[in-house]
Amino acid sequence: MNDIRHITFEQLTLPHPKIIAGPCSAESEEQVMESARRLSACGIRMFRAGLWKPRTKPGGFEGVGAQGIAWLKRVKDETGMKVSTEVATPRHVEEVLRGGIDMVWIGARTTANPFAMQEIADALEGVDLPVLVKNPVSPDLELWIGALERLYNAGIRRMAAVHRGFSSLDKSIYRNRPMWGIPIELKRRLPQIEIFCDPSHIGGKRELIAPISQQAMDLGFEGLMIESHCTPDTAWSDAAQQITPERLSEIICRTVIRDKCCRAEDLNELRSQIDKTDDELVELLAHRMKVARMIGRYKRRHNMPVLQRDRYEELLARRTAEAERLGMEGEFMRTLMQAIHEESVRQQMDVLDEHGANDDKL
Ligand code: PEP
Ligand code: MN
Repeated sequence: MNDIRHITFEQLTLPHPKIIAGPCSAESEEQVMESARRLSACGIRMFRAGLWKPRTKPGGFEGVGAQGIAWLKRVKDETGMKVSTEVATPRHVEEVLRGGIDMVWIGARTTANPFAMQEIADALEGVDLPVLVKNPVSPDLELWIGALERLYNAGIRRMAAVHRGFSSLDKSIYRNRPMWGIPIELKRRLPQIEIFCDPSHIGGKRELIAPISQQAMDLGFEGLMIESHCTPDTAWSDAAQQITPERLSEIICRTVIRDKCCRAEDLNELRSQIDKTDDELVELLAHRMKVARMIGRYKRRHNMPVLQRDRYEELLARRTAEAERLGMEGEFMRTLMQAIHEESVRQQMDVLDEHGANDDKL
């Protein structure tokens, strides 16, 4: 069947959880070999190192380029690990195919660009190479799925997604906000796809790697891609978020891997409670909309505008504070109330078009 939703993605053959680790960038043969030997000693089976580095501004370290392929080959020969790197152009694809690289990933800036994605997909046509697709820089699920589809249409079947967070203007503790709802929705849309979490690029700093990795495992992600360097402080790119192989090993050992099996009866009982609550929520919302329409009629009769700014601000502030008091994220409640308010306004506007049909009800 030629529909990406139904295919079974061939899985990468790594033990669960699947770990991909290595430096942000290959810097020198010594740095690559030293990082690889120590990662291999920690049991890592898939090595990563960026050869071509997309930098926000010119003048930064843009990667060692194709000369690093020989270093990755040496990693394979001497440690037995598989090796992977980022590709962003058809020329990169040619180089990695010639060099015997085992897997490639598409970076966030490339996923965001349909022209670049199509060129890469064309270059990979008919090639049996596993490809990881990082989420695009902006929180746009369709772009992410579109990139996977382009590769799928080119015949790539061994594919996985990498969640590396989304860039945002809002201040937060993260370098790239996780917005977990997006990878969760990706999994709902493409249930077969494996998702790796990249806590290094989400967190942007070492301290956040352990907690983000744990969250990803709690959410049932299949694997982790983590930046690890033999001497992180001296790294030429992303120094603040890289950790030594030994620290990586410690984090993996301490991360609780959730057992996917559970006692189904207990879970079914809890799920039926959730279903009941959701049904009640829908009924409550329907009631709220009915009242909104009555208000709409009242406003029409008294010639008042639908949107009352002060009232809206007060409603948002009150519900957000109450949600926080009850242990929820204020931001979550804000988004929810905005969506509810938008529908209420739509219902009231609808009433304006009713030509006074139900005026006598108020
Ligand atoms: C990387 O993995 O080093 C990288 C550049 O990642 P991203 O595309 O997620 O920024
Ligand atoms: Mn990096």
